Amino acid sequence: MIAENLRHIKNNIPKHVTLVAVSKTKPTTAILDAYTAGQRIFGENKVQEMATKHDELPKDIQWHMIGHLQRNKVKYMAHFVHLIHGVDSFKTLKEINKQAKKHQRVINCLLQARIAKEETKFGLSFSDINELISLEELSALKNIKIIGLMGMATFTEDQEQLKQEFSSLKVFFDTLKEDFLSLDTLSMGMSGDYPLAIENGSTMVRVGSAIFGARNYIV
Ligand SMILES: *Cc1c(COP(=O)(O)O)cnc(C)c1O
Repeated sequence: MIAENLRHIKNNIPKHVTLVAVSKTKPTTAILDAYTAGQRIFGENKVQEMATKHDELPKDIQWHMIGHLQRNKVKYMAHFVHLIHGVDSFKTLKEINKQAKKHQRVINCLLQARIAKEETKFGLSFSDINELISLEELSALKNIKIIGLMGMATFTEDQEQLKQEFSSLKVFFDTLKEDFLSLDTLSMGMSGDYPLAIENGSTMVRVGSAIFGARNYIV
């Protein structure tokens, strides 16, 4: 089933779009099914759960942290994490840099943009992102690399609203890229909305339930 779901999704996304298989709450056996079907990039939203899975699973897996990040947890993933999607402060970037340095690594980061109309979503406004990415102090952080932006749309079926949220981020991303040439990743789109996200410029989709089935509890 997992292999079949993966094949279906892979056939439906263009080559330039990276698929992150979101395996949060799912057992290692399910991840191995996806791995056997060729998937190498997995996303988790809890640092400890990701670290345990990293220990137990093949070492050529690229692990992405997609959840809201607590600074005191960065140290538990600094030795292996490939990309952190949800960075929303300079303080957090500093902590990631500090922990990455201990392992002589450079950790890739995405700044999380707030695109949803909902109150509950994390992330920075576009002007906050402009400010953060232009900070002089950022150039001193040699062990992080900001490679793009991440956004989560409102939890809604309203296609017009989703399209509007995705395309607003795409427009902002393109403007930002003119000044910051190293940005190349725009992470947006989940199981329910990834085709629309791709139509509106996503280069990385985070898909969980459409691969692994519904999760048993809300996280
Ligand atoms: C859980 C989660 C996803 C995947 O959600 P699905 O609807 O299961 O595809 C994507 N992004 C983030 C940030 C998540 O927490």
